Amino acid sequence: AKEDLRRTLERIDGRGYPAYRDLEGTYRFEAFQLVIEHVQSDPFAPPSRFRVEMGLDTTGIPEELYADPVRRTAMEDFILRTAHQRLKGWRQRRGSGKSGLIEITEPSQVVIPRSAVEIGHSRLTVRFVVGLPARGRTVLGRQAQEMILEDIPAWVEESFLWKSMDQNNARDHVALAVDQAALRRWMAEEKVIAFVADGAILPRESGQSDKPMGRAAVPFRSPESLRREVRLPSGRSVAGMAILQGITLICGGGYHGKSTLLRALEQGVYNHIAGDGREWVLTDPTAVKIRAEDGRWVRGVDISPFINDLPYGKSTDQFTTESASGATSQAANIMEAVEIGATTLLIDEDTSATNFMIRDARMQALVAKEHEPITPFIDRVRQLFDEWGVSTVLVVGGAGDYLDVADAVIAMESYIPKDVTEEARRVVERFPSGRKAEAVGPLPAKPVRKVRELGRRPKPGDKWKVEAKDEHLILYGRERVLLQAVEQLVEIGQTRAIAACLRILTERADGRTSLAELLRQLLAEMDQKGFAALAGPRGCPGNLAMPRPHEVAAAVNRLEGLKIV
Ligand code: ADP
Ligand code: MG
Repeated sequence: AKEDLRRTLERIDGRGYPAYRDLEGTYRFEAFQLVIEHVQSDPFAPPSRFRVEMGLDTTGIPEELYADPVRRTAMEDFILRTAHQRLKGWRQRRGSGKSGLIEITEPSQVVIPRSAVEIGHSRLTVRFVVGLPARGRTVLGRQAQEMILEDIPAWVEESFLWKSMDQNNARDHVALAVDQAALRRWMAEEKVIAFVADGAILPRESGQSDKPMGRAAVPFRSPESLRREVRLPSGRSVAGMAILQGITLICGGGYHGKSTLLRALEQGVYNHIAGDGREWVLTDPTAVKIRAEDGRWVRGVDISPFINDLPYGKSTDQFTTESASGATSQAANIMEAVEIGATTLLIDEDTSATNFMIRDARMQALVAKEHEPITPFIDRVRQLFDEWGVSTVLVVGGAGDYLDVADAVIAMESYIPKDVTEEARRVVERFPSGRKAEAVGPLPAKPVRKVRELGRRPKPGDKWKVEAKDEHLILYGRERVLLQAVEQLVEIGQTRAIAACLRILTERADGRTSLAELLRQLLAEMDQKGFAALAGPRGCPGNLAMPRPHEVAAAVNRLEGLKIV
């Protein structure tokens, strides 16, 4: 119990830092249990891992605020924001290195499950880190007593008890998530793949900041013809632009806000917090941003719908390369997204390979189809929808031939969208593109790949680990897995969780199970057991966040040693 902790701290006071190891264990406090999971090796090492567990009844949080997955995730997110806020400015230097630090994951603008705060099995679990105090490398037992026996309990009381929470904010936070979920359900029923509410603020503060742009931002205003209004469970109504399944073009002059709109749609796979400006920008949760990514590894991907008959007979139905071109990488990105279940593709001309997107009439006349391995996207985009049910939202500034294949055309003018679908029809009639369709046959079956191996499996005793170095870089053993082009990662915690997934999948790949199925199983386990499903040899860290299967797959697909059956 708590008294043991005090005695241990008195006993090890003044001894060498490793004596702190004696603290590892579980301690009963009045209102909660404290688990000291892992003690750092010295004051400069990554701080020690602590966990607090509390009965949900003890917290007093009303059950209706976490009764189902949507509410639970929102409430967890709210608790984390409170706990993080209350720790701000808390840090007291209490000696060398990280001495005196108490830290919990900082949430971004999105509401997603995170290992820092989990509700489940009638318990609230909170994971955080503590820099156990030292002078030089000597245990400061008295300071540690203050931290563990006074500061942490005070913080727990201020952050995790319903009576000390901002209850109105908590209820609003959960109500917003419930409304967002209802709007997503409505979208699915109405075949709407993206919704952007009137008044939404799409541009961000800067390239570095995900916070909304300030007063200079022009709020979104939907074109009358595309406007839909939905009444939500809280009683509020939201009106905004609905983008339907099929093929939608976003066109308009340079600098008129096309890419900004598309980026908001990319992020709309997540729910955002109130005040973000994108809380009513929602997108099909399986939507994947597709871009060219020349130089990436590709492993056994069927890109034959787009690329065929490469020089020297290189096959494209199991295409493998150390360094893909713009077009082949974009084709691979599409096939991989569809493999994991994407039903919407988001594409920006700015980040696409031109020769992948279009071959106009003049090029068709000059270079015979036999000498062109690429079937451009324009000739497959309709089939993707008709045969596979995959919609596309495409930003185009220059490639007017796309007007031929669009179901809806939205023009951005000074950041305000206009529905120009009818005008576009007239343009198509007046100015035929003159190009011939190049897709000869139907699409093959949707891709499914069975994974034999993610990489060489470590032998027992190997010093092999998988680690997120930053939001867009994972170290897999010695290998660097580059995720710069994976634009729908929003928190480094997701990258850390993906690293943990890679470790687990390395063991599970068996040559019989498809990648999609492996991911489905793993994410289902996380749904069931929480982040404990990703626990490594040292337990479950408090800095993980839930990735989508698409981003986990993106990391798998960029592994050098990935072997497909
Ligand atoms: P495009 O892709 O059409 O060339 P961008 O989306 O890149 O245009 O936007 C150009 C600039 O305008 C960016 O700096 C962006 O931050 C700004 N911007 C975009 N939308 C808005 C808006 N609604 N209000 C104010 N500024 C905006
Ligand atoms: Mg742009």
